[in-house]
This record gives sequence, structure tokens and C-alpha cells, in this order.
Amino acid sequence: MRLHHVRVLGPGGLSMPQTVEVNAEGAQDRDATGLVLSPGWMDLHAHLRDPGFPQKETLLSGATSAAIGGFTHVLAMANTDPVTDRRERLESLVARSDALPIRISFVGAVTVALEGQELTDAAALKAAGAVALSDDGRHAMTAVVLRRALEAGAQAGLPVLIHAQAEALGNGPDAEAAAVSDALDAMRTMSAARLHVQHVSTRRAVELIRAAKSQGLLVTAEVTPHHLTLTEQDAWAMGPQGNVNPPLRTPDDRDALRQALVDEVIDVIATDHAPHERAAKEAGANGFHGFETAVGVVLGLGLNGRAVYRACISRPREIVGQSLEDEWILIDPNEEWTVEASSFKSRGKNTPFQGRRLRGRVLMTICRGQVVTERVMQHA
Ligand SMILES: [Zn+2]
Repeated sequence: MRLHHVRVLGPGGLSMPQTVEVNAEGAQDRDATGLVLSPGWMDLHAHLRDPGFPQKETLLSGATSAAIGGFTHVLAMANTDPVTDRRERLESLVARSDALPIRISFVGAVTVALEGQELTDAAALKAAGAVALSDDGRHAMTAVVLRRALEAGAQAGLPVLIHAQAEALGNGPDAEAAAVSDALDAMRTMSAARLHVQHVSTRRAVELIRAAKSQGLLVTAEVTPHHLTLTEQDAWAMGPQGNVNPPLRTPDDRDALRQALVDEVIDVIATDHAPHERAAKEAGANGFHGFETAVGVVLGLGLNGRAVYRACISRPREIVGQSLEDEWILIDPNEEWTVEASSFKSRGKNTPFQGRRLRGRVLMTICRGQVVTERVMQHA
């Protein structure tokens, strides 16, 4: 497919309008004036609920939703039922993912059943296709277990992704600071280990990570679109719909997260896509739908093109050793639209952005040389 007058997002930012040839079987050439061609985004943090919770999401519904949202590669967490803590479970997921419209990679659990006690076999999980280790959703590990987990990850060549909320301390700022601080302390005694802190939500955690990076520790971090834009006041107004872990924080925390992204203290924007059926959400379940609003929310942050490329395209892949392969999205950065959860392709309609106006939307998603989703082209 030949795109005319399209601006291309690359590592250095946005190009001038140009003609670009994209490998997209069967797609017609078109005038793309005003549009942006971007490599497909990678979401380093998603819950696809498969196996075990088809009322919330499946590999197929999640992959379809991700494609609509502009993600061509998603990393699925292990808190499924059963938990992805054994080689054969990982092999089964990897085999099923081949038929999906986008690429799905999987983490293997750090501890058996996410219970924080017995380590899984990291080498076997890697051999089955795991690209990282994570107990996300739980942080039941003691400092001793976490240290052993980082060593096992280092031996297997896998980063360890931590849901930094010390369970004994709840989910307040202290729980996050304690978990981040313990993990960074463990890293100080290791050479090859790689630590990635998931969904950083407070200024205190940002400052701990900033200091650790300046000391040369191999630590990376992510932040969600909702923690970059919403605060506890939004959560209060939403009732149970506003429940998420970590919770939405103060405006000061939100501002610190935005600055950390600009300063490269936080590496990645990841959605923590956590779909729930209506009854579970109304009963208080934590988590938000993330895929189908991410591009509009992120473009609304006012970051420059280089920062978007880094946070949504290059750093997520570098952290888990993945490369881009014929994955593209075509974005209309000026399209204004209203979030309407009932139109989501995801089974989870639990968005905190319901009814909000967003600017910027994905028109077309291309993966493995195939057009996997396409909306009506206004500029065709
Ligand atoms: Zn988490």
C-alpha cells in the first residue's frame, strides 16, 4: 500500500509529509494528508483473562480490542486460572496465539500460583516462550524471595516485572515505596539482574527510581495512561467504577509521573488493561479497560514525537527483547471522538474515560503484513 502525504513517526520524531510504501496485503493506495503512520505500539502490561475468565476477555477478544486501539504486540500477564506458572501452560498459550490478529507474548509467573513462596522454573518458562517473569496482580514475595527471583531471572536471561505494592501494607503510597525500595536494594547486590517496575503511581516511587538510575542500576519503569491523566477526585466521582490498583493518586503524583516520562526516569507507557464484566466491576473489582482509549489519551498528553516513540514503541520492545516486524498503525491525530464503552470490541467496558472527548484515533492497524482492522477513512 502506498500512502501519499503521510507523516511518519520514527525515533527522531515526526517526519515531513512524504510518500511511503507499507507492506499491507490487499490495501489500496491512498492520500493520507494529515495522517500519521506509526510503527505499531507495544503494550507491556495487559490482562487477557485467558484461560479462566471468558466473561471478562479471551485471547481473541483481547487481541481484537488491542488492534483497534493501535497495539500490534501485547504482553499478557500470568494471573489467569490456572496461573501461567508451568512450561506446558505457557506452551499452550503460545500455540494458541499464532492465529490471533496481533502478536501476543506472555510472562511466566515468578512464584508458583503467585503465592510469593516457591519460585517457578524460569529456564523452563523461557524455553516455552516466556519473555519476562511477573507475579503481577500480587506482590506477596518477601525481600528474600524477590532477591532469589532476580537471580533466577538473571540466569534465565529474563527481566523481572514487579507489581510494586507490598501486600502487607495495603495499596497506599507507603506500600508502593516499600516495595520499590526493597527491590532496588536487592538490585544493588547483583550485576546481571534486570528489574522493571510496573504501573508506578507516586512521586515517592519516581524519586526512588530516579536515584537508582542515576546510580547505574538496571531498572526500568512504566506508567499507565490513567495515572498520567486522572486523580483520586476522578475516582471518588466514579464510585466502584473508579477502583484500580494502584489507586488513582493526587495531582502532585500525576504531575511527577508526567515529568518522569519526559526525563526518561519512566521508560514506558503501558495500559494495565484489566477488563471486567459489569457485575464484577459493580461489586468493586479493581482495574480498567485500557486498549481502545490509549492512543487518544496518550496523544492528549502533549509529549513530543520522540517521547511517544520511546514510551510506546521502542522501550517496551527493548525491555523484553522483541523487535518490530511489519507492524504499523495509521493514526488521525486530529480526529475528535467521544469514548463510548458499549462500542468497545473488548468484553471489558470498564473504562474510566466513559463520555470523555479524546483527540487522536487509530484508523488502520497492520500486523504481519495484513490489515487487521480498518475504520472508515475520512481522508481517502
Ligand atoms: Zn499490577
